Amino acid sequence: NKITGLFNNVSPMQLVFATNNLNKLKEVQVLIPASIKLLSLKDIGCLEDIPETQNTIEGNAIQKAEYIKLHYGYNCFADDTGLEVPILHGEPGVYSARYAGPQRDADDNMNLLLEKLKDKTNRQAQFKTVIALHLDGELKTFTGICKGNITKEKHGEHGFGYDPIFKAEGNTKTFAELPLEEKNQIGHRGKAVGQLVDYLNTLTNQYT
Ligand code: IMP
Repeated sequence: NKITGLFNNVSPMQLVFATNNLNKLKEVQVLIPASIKLLSLKDIGCLEDIPETQNTIEGNAIQKAEYIKLHYGYNCFADDTGLEVPILHGEPGVYSARYAGPQRDADDNMNLLLEKLKDKTNRQAQFKTVIALHLDGELKTFTGICKGNITKEKHGEHGFGYDPIFKAEGNTKTFAELPLEEKNQIGHRGKAVGQLVDYLNTLTNQYT
């Protein structure tokens, strides 16, 4: 079995996390099996912008993981996240980072969303994270969803992106009012990472 070779090596298996966000990298490194060493894009000398030209969150995660495998030869996983608002037909979705324009400004994005929801009573929304894992020629995806509502105003200072206007189901505080650990426990990215970690653990337990 080709996976056996990987995990029986004396040196740990190397896996690239296709992100430039070092906080995300650190967060995930402590969760995955010790036999897997995570590499950042910088570690493998990838300094260019990886194309994200698909029109779905899944598509972009897969595109990024495949790009690294193709151009750098490493096993790799990549994540992509978007906020989906059903009454706005899934907006901002795949355009979450640049909803209000190419300046990718979180305040501008939130203001635009609040404006579009101004007269709406249905303020349901969900964050969706997809992680695409490219491991030995096989592609797997893991999806984490966090359902909630868009508030009428911004609250809180933590987090980033749309956190000040998103309240997870059953919560009285926005994501920006929660400590990071609490957000990770109920959040979309934490759920997707949890599935990835479970999968990697199964593989390493099976083959070592
Ligand atoms: P990315 O795929 O993780 O880069 O996320 C794309 C965009 O979605 C970000 O630029 C943010 O606008 C938004 N976003 C992603 N994750 C979160 C989150 O946890 N809270 C709030 N906004 C987020």
